[in-house]
Amino acid sequence: MKRYFLWGVSTMIPCCPSRQILLGPATLLALFYFLVPVLLPAGCDGGTRQRVLCKYVIDGDTIILSDGRRVRYQGINAPEIPHDGQPGEPFGLRAKEVNRRLVQGKFIDIEISRNQPLDRYNRVIAHVFLRNGKHVGEMLVRAGLAMACTYGKQDRYSKRLLAAQRSAISRKAGIWGLPPDRPEDYYIGNSRSLRFHRPWCKNGRQTSMKNRVIFKSRLKAFKEGYCPCRACRP
Ligand SMILES: [Zn+2]
Repeated sequence: MKRYFLWGVSTMIPCCPSRQILLGPATLLALFYFLVPVLLPAGCDGGTRQRVLCKYVIDGDTIILSDGRRVRYQGINAPEIPHDGQPGEPFGLRAKEVNRRLVQGKFIDIEISRNQPLDRYNRVIAHVFLRNGKHVGEMLVRAGLAMACTYGKQDRYSKRLLAAQRSAISRKAGIWGLPPDRPEDYYIGNSRSLRFHRPWCKNGRQTSMKNRVIFKSRLKAFKEGYCPCRACRP
């Protein structure tokens, strides 16, 4: 649906008919060379896309931009690095190193979550992409250096992230090659929050029967996109 003028064009963005914009020739040129490659991949159901410079990598899922904003990678959870006297988790430093090599000092594209742009620590929640379009979180999950975690808030990248996780599990890549810590006979999952628990965890036992899912092993829970409870650490 397009209407052409002498020098410009008024056009409807195909998937967002409400967003009608009037474009002059200079704007069109700018759009073509700069904005289009940044905006188009986001589409209308995705969040806001921005091209930014990554100044520093904090760990496998958090970075600092040159403008000072902290970005927390959306849809994944990387193992902790040692901090505040805590020893960290296996592969935490490896995840940080791989993330650092991918993005530190580089221009990247971030797609900021529309539903939750900031978390409670004021970090920007976003999917992060290399300039070649690769999804950084997906690369880390595929290498077994992060888990795919939506906590029940799926978006357009959730399926890709879960597929990468299933692949990493089947190859025993990274964290998936570790022996399970104190395995249980079964685990309790919550189909709403997509978290799972050890059988004795009070958070798990509070799960309503409607949302309760029983997993015979933790890997079965991970293959379905469930993430471990922070309290009982299954
Ligand atoms: Zn728990």
